[in-house]
Amino acid sequence: MPTTPPISHYKDETQDILDKEIDKEIGNAQVSEQTPELKVLPVKKPEKKPTNASNIVSAFRQKLSSSTTPIELPGLGKTVEFKEISTREQKEMSKVALQSNSRPDIMYCTMVSLINELAADKDFDIRELTEFERIQVTLNLQQMNKINPEIKYTCSQCGKETTYKLDTAKMLRNFTKTFKPEQEFKIENGNRTFVFNAGWSKCGLVEDFFKNYYKKYDNQSKAIKESIDNMSQIEYMLMFLKSVTLVENSDPDDKLTANLEEMTYGERCQIIDSIPQSVLFDENVGVISKIIKHYIEPMQAVFKYKDCPFCGAEQDGAVASLADFLGG
Ligand SMILES: [Zn+2]
Repeated sequence: MPTTPPISHYKDETQDILDKEIDKEIGNAQVSEQTPELKVLPVKKPEKKPTNASNIVSAFRQKLSSSTTPIELPGLGKTVEFKEISTREQKEMSKVALQSNSRPDIMYCTMVSLINELAADKDFDIRELTEFERIQVTLNLQQMNKINPEIKYTCSQCGKETTYKLDTAKMLRNFTKTFKPEQEFKIENGNRTFVFNAGWSKCGLVEDFFKNYYKKYDNQSKAIKESIDNMSQIEYMLMFLKSVTLVENSDPDDKLTANLEEMTYGERCQIIDSIPQSVLFDENVGVISKIIKHYIEPMQAVFKYKDCPFCGAEQDGAVASLADFLGG
């Protein structure tokens, strides 16, 4: 499985000016990144006690990075200790969000590598867990770090702007309740039946999907970027397919199974692309409609915006991206 580069990978070197602007705005003292330069000058006045700033800096950092909070991970059957998000990491996330214009692939990969950096157990890899657990960990980390981002939206009915503060503790409780195990969906198609196994995919696969899918994003027009963003939501749903079996109706023993979970992202795509489109996308009987009903809608209900406080109109939007989550 390919490894995710560290957060700093996504920093554009030409963004120095932007960095400085952000640093100015949030009053970055740059202590943590410049430790080696903080050399103690020789003390000239003997009446003053000698201080050792660099020792204090490293003792400070060591002490703060060694305190952790456990997060329960049902998929692993254990709890994992996580460090709190430091100010430096939070700034880094904000920079990545700003510089990438909250591109879903970059935000996703950055979040995944941040989760791995925060885990105290270095053998831990969020990519091995399911996407359901990745969302749980994200909500847990927000709660632990007291991040309750605000989301601004404009009411589709009265046009007034509302600021909605996310309640991550409540979202975590409600999201956890939506868990559904793997399900089997049978779809008839002519002389064959397609039997799909569906469920929450591994986070690593979703990461591979984002990395591959957004390769064609750069240098595109705004309209094309928008359609790539829209299409990526359908592609995300296809990640819920774990295996597909073709059964000949005339002879139920004549079966061919593709275990999508064991394939690379590219191999998966080749299998999925060969399936008749109605089997996947038919509004009523297609497998995507079943994934939406069983997995996507319950999740959207948790992350849905509140109704407009001015006119009471129901809002269509949901907390869509990690940028929303992190207040990027
Ligand atoms: Zn309204």
